[in-house]
Amino acid sequence: MRDNFGRTINYLRLSITDRCNLRCRYCMPVEGVDSLGHGQILSYEELLRVAAAAAALGVRKIRLTGGEPLVRKGLVDFVARLAALPEHPEITLTTNGLLLADHAAELKRAGLSRVNVSLDTLRPERFAELTRRPGFEQVLAGLAAAERVGLSPLKINMVPIAGVNADEVADFARLTLAHPWEVRFIEFMPVTGNLDYPPESRFPADDIVAAFSVLGPVEELPRHDPGAVARLYRLAGAQGRIGVIPAVSHHFCHECNRLRVTPEGRLRPCLFSDLELDLRALLRRGASDAEVQDFLRQAVCAKPERHHIGEADFKPGCRPMQGIGG
Ligand code: SAM
Ligand code: SF4
Repeated sequence: MRDNFGRTINYLRLSITDRCNLRCRYCMPVEGVDSLGHGQILSYEELLRVAAAAAALGVRKIRLTGGEPLVRKGLVDFVARLAALPEHPEITLTTNGLLLADHAAELKRAGLSRVNVSLDTLRPERFAELTRRPGFEQVLAGLAAAERVGLSPLKINMVPIAGVNADEVADFARLTLAHPWEVRFIEFMPVTGNLDYPPESRFPADDIVAAFSVLGPVEELPRHDPGAVARLYRLAGAQGRIGVIPAVSHHFCHECNRLRVTPEGRLRPCLFSDLELDLRALLRRGASDAEVQDFLRQAVCAKPERHHIGEADFKPGCRPMQGIGG
């Protein structure tokens, strides 16, 4: 699919639940988010129809996210059905890792290619403070299990926030010396106004690069995949690599290749715009496969050219990230 600005859209992010077993301070408010009821979120059947329509239109990669995707029952079977689509899209998962050790092997068998594990600190006490829940050791066990079963290359997502955990950027980067992992630093995005950290807590991409450059010579790597949003680096002698995702400061909108589906079945053409199209209503009216495909094309045409975060008239949206899927 091509959008109005000539971008090829071949990546679908399905947020399969709004529920989460953590309460990360930059993502979810501690309270005041009512969970969606069972009938409000798209069923696996409905998600599969959307995925099949997208794959038929050229989507090559499907990422499952949330909320925390591993808290939704039946995920392994759903992965198997996605992997069995005739176009064989690549299936990936973004998870906080808490339940990963229990499911890594069966997810791999079901056809999952890779996982991104979100981890924002290597310090157990800070983990509890940042996520408002215990579970640090479980995440480490999840990482180990993912590596053991071959859900690789393993990627770790870290969101550095000034005055909170940005002092750990070098510690995370150091992990790539001994492990063949990709440690990805994602700029904190002030996408909603009601979270614990104000926009001033942003730790921009250039500061991230400066923070890990103290470890020694850093090589910038060429990017092979045009839709990949990370700038890539390697520390001298490292097994793994470092990604920096300058979501806000050097926006990658001109390379955006994605569509998002929220848990309650809204198609979201842009992460940073609250424009959403009601896919669930269409599915539940008994739409044909051709109509679902048409709707996906409409969403692609509705993609804005770029985001306006950081500009004077930008207004944060009303959805916390857990309701979109990142
Ligand atoms: N629960 C899963 C997890 O944490 O990996 C999947 C959903 S989470 C919303 C997806 C990604 O969004 C995570 O890597 C998380 O760190 C990131 N994220 C959430 N809120 C963010 C924010 N305000 N700025 C930048 N990244 C954010
Ligand atoms: Fe949950 Fe992921 Fe948001 Fe943390 S970042 S609250 S784990 S959805």
